[in-house]
Amino acid sequence: MSSGLKMFFARHTAKNNQLLSVATLGPGDRDFLVCQFCKAKVAFVNTYQRSGRTVAAYLRLWPGVEHSINCKNVLKDSVKQLVADSRNTEQANDIFHAQSDGFIFRMNVLVDAEHEMRRAEKNLEEAKDPADKERKRTLYQSTQKRISDYFNSAAGIAKIRARIEDSTDKKALSEMVKIEFNKQHIQWNDFFYEEQRYPALFKKAAQLKHPVAILLTVKTAAKLIPTAKKPFFSLKGEVAEEKQTERFAPAINTLAEELLSNFSPEDELIVVGRVQVSTKEWQSLLYKNLTFWIAHKKQVTKISE
Ligand SMILES: [Zn+2]
Repeated sequence: MSSGLKMFFARHTAKNNQLLSVATLGPGDRDFLVCQFCKAKVAFVNTYQRSGRTVAAYLRLWPGVEHSINCKNVLKDSVKQLVADSRNTEQANDIFHAQSDGFIFRMNVLVDAEHEMRRAEKNLEEAKDPADKERKRTLYQSTQKRISDYFNSAAGIAKIRARIEDSTDKKALSEMVKIEFNKQHIQWNDFFYEEQRYPALFKKAAQLKHPVAILLTVKTAAKLIPTAKKPFFSLKGEVAEEKQTERFAPAINTLAEELLSNFSPEDELIVVGRVQVSTKEWQSLLYKNLTFWIAHKKQVTKISE
């Protein structure tokens, strides 16, 4: 049986089954917690340090306990739920395609939508005549809505991947959801990068032709970077390498402050988008930057939501 996903909410059996988030649990609550969706007992895992960063507290199954069948905290059901939610939108072009033995995650749909989005944006900027501008604005807005749904689905599947603790579940996910891009299957490892795989992403980034998803722990909240041309907002993470003089520095940049204003230090985020790499020496340190420029709210999501 699969071991279930990391959880961030539980019900408290001595408090009327009240739903509590992991951040609000005190030491006295820890013996009374059950799964949000079934009766399985869950255990509290306290925050700890890894690679010089804080891993946020979470909940996992109590040893020897299993979720009930169809619990949404089981990998299979969380994937099915995500796919079902992804289909609530009216577009014809689903990002997940059902097959007899699982689902195809269609990366091309996301990439095409991105291009369409940029085109709509450009057309809107260039339109001069008011009636034409209004028509292009409507088109732009509907394109933007559609790409939000696609990014939501992509971030959702990456979030499920990030909540897996057990390698059998990782294998089960890669069997259940295949990623397709340009009519070829791509590996999960080429789409999703947790922090210990930043070196692999850094090395591969220049060759990647599709968006990727990364797990990022916030080190510094978004702040304004004043530049002469276009000031922007930047949120940063930081992971020390074994050689302590080298750091991976993932960053999320945007022109729209509200896209990042909800995130604080130690939040664990999933970011979906195109990655750019660069290096920068600062004092005796070498920073290896992994930068994402985002334009949509749905490209970034907290893992505990
Ligand atoms: Zn459960």
